[in-house]
Amino acid sequence: MTSALLGPAEIRSLADELGFRPRKMLGQNFLHDANTIRRIVRTAELAPDDVVLEVGPGLGSLTLGLLAAGHRVTAVEIDPVLADALPSTVEAHLPQAPLTVVTADAMRLGPLPGAAPTALVANLPYNVAVPVVLHLLETLPSLRTGLVLVQAEVADRLAAGPGSKVYGVPSVKAAWYARTTRAGAVSRSVFWPVPNVDSGLVRLVRHAPPNVEVARTEVFGVIDAAFAQRRKMLRSALSGRAGSPAAAVAALEAAGVDPTARGETLDVTAFARIAAALPRVVS
Ligand code: SAM
Repeated sequence: MTSALLGPAEIRSLADELGFRPRKMLGQNFLHDANTIRRIVRTAELAPDDVVLEVGPGLGSLTLGLLAAGHRVTAVEIDPVLADALPSTVEAHLPQAPLTVVTADAMRLGPLPGAAPTALVANLPYNVAVPVVLHLLETLPSLRTGLVLVQAEVADRLAAGPGSKVYGVPSVKAAWYARTTRAGAVSRSVFWPVPNVDSGLVRLVRHAPPNVEVARTEVFGVIDAAFAQRRKMLRSALSGRAGSPAAAVAALEAAGVDPTARGETLDVTAFARIAAALPRVVS
């Protein structure tokens, strides 16, 4: 199994063969450490029948780790040079491994070919990690679990609970879809090129969204409004959305939330109750 995985020399020579120079704008920092790859695959706690969605396979380090562990993988890569090279890299290491490559932007992903993916495992492009995770959880209800490698601060935010200093919009929106937990740190030294930020793993396990009679988009609008003015009490942060300060107070009280509380103290269920209690916006 070890020989299936890519080390530093092979990553460099693959890049050289392609005449490829990593682009910061696309978050192109590639893993080149077999132990880290094996740890990520293990920490993903995949079931044998899981179909894995990997966003941003890059040169194929994690893709090979997932395939070597016996999983089917659908890999979505925005960079056509990398997407085109991936099948032959995989063929050279693991002939006939069950890989589907899709050249696409994961933030605008439509229906995927083949079996519906059940698990997301990805070393995500750091600048778009949160929108990618939220978009995939929204558009692919078949995803039951996830393990994503992201910038350490983003990992903290995704996994934070109410009251934490780093609790914010990504924490609450992710909690709409899934239970999120930190799943360890990853050293800068296992990437090429070496990033100038620390990295961390977040595990996601999908759960049912809050049981309220209101659209998710309404709830997310309330979350955005509450955190846009983080230091403000909810009664003033939500007055615009409610139509008046008095209407905001009435909705908060109807939702069982103290109007003088701040958004950073509320869980996603409380935000959902508030959205359900607010007057509907007529457009
Ligand atoms: N998985 C590889 C690894 O671990 O070595 C590469 C990870 S690298 C951090 C992120 C990858 O995501 C790059 O290959 C990059 O081209 C790709 N990428 C960036 N933005 C993307 C997007 N919006 N949709 C799909 N892939 C994207």
